[in-house]
Amino acid sequence: MTEKTARSNLAFPHRHLLGIEGLSPDEITLLLDLSEAYVEQNRLEDKKKSTLRGRTLINLFFETSTRTRTSFELAGKRLGADVINMSIATSSIKKGETLLDTAITLNAMHPDVLVVRHPYSGAVKLLSEKVNCAVINGGDGSHEHPTQALLDALTIRRRLGRLSKLTVAICGDVLHSRVARSNIHLLNTMGAHVRVVAPPTLLPASIGRLGVEVFHDMREGLRGCDIVMMLRLQTERMKGSFVPSIREYFHFFGLDYDKLSVAKEDALIMHPGPMNRGIEIDSELADDVGRSVIQEQVEMGVAVRMACLETLASNGVVGSAR
Ligand code: ASP
Repeated sequence: MTEKTARSNLAFPHRHLLGIEGLSPDEITLLLDLSEAYVEQNRLEDKKKSTLRGRTLINLFFETSTRTRTSFELAGKRLGADVINMSIATSSIKKGETLLDTAITLNAMHPDVLVVRHPYSGAVKLLSEKVNCAVINGGDGSHEHPTQALLDALTIRRRLGRLSKLTVAICGDVLHSRVARSNIHLLNTMGAHVRVVAPPTLLPASIGRLGVEVFHDMREGLRGCDIVMMLRLQTERMKGSFVPSIREYFHFFGLDYDKLSVAKEDALIMHPGPMNRGIEIDSELADDVGRSVIQEQVEMGVAVRMACLETLASNGVVGSAR
């Protein structure tokens, strides 16, 4: 064990990574610092390490995913783990019951880390209480998506050198977004100023308790901000109609050069993906490498997931919990 991982043991005393809420600034910084090393590692020709050699990582996805699943798969493989991907159709899930059956089945396979994505908020925590290994939340309903917030933070920190005192505008479908929730917790914990910009129909009733400034107008919400984080309109989670029409939504809340002009001159644009071009973001702007760091976010994702896997492994939990 290196000196660095030995220190990690004491500094990250968690068995699972279920959310950002509750993590301390030091714990978040530890994960980001370790991720930095992996960014460099991932740019080398030989990207492989043996930190998790002999360990088994299972990606258990009850909801579709492109970036998160492949990113965890790559992260696990680059650390030398055996990686299994399991996708389970959501249509046949019976809340609770199937999850517990799944846990019993998985325990019998002795995995060391489970990455779980599930359409119900709280389902990943429930599963973590029933399995004998470390669990990472790969997104649960509209609750949390911790590794997305960490990779967003790493992207921002590498570009702007810090997180504290930055003004970040999170725009769009906040109501259904686990990305928004995890980012709000992380950015607040690290001392950034968080604004949310959305129509009232796309904000949760509890927004006032999350420590953010609320705007219903893009130009007011974006004025002077350092970062503009756009969110996907999550139609799959909508029961009923939340916006009058897609055209109107883009007109008032879609990010384009005109609305962006009130932000800081060098404000960065982020989006967790997948993007709805022409709905929440203008297509040309999304591809503008002078402003958009969307591809960089994907790159940071692999590094952050390697750091999370290594940290849970090096705190003595992985492989020794049963
Ligand atoms: N990929 C992100 C998530 O799983 C964002 C999105 O789907 O809009 O939450």
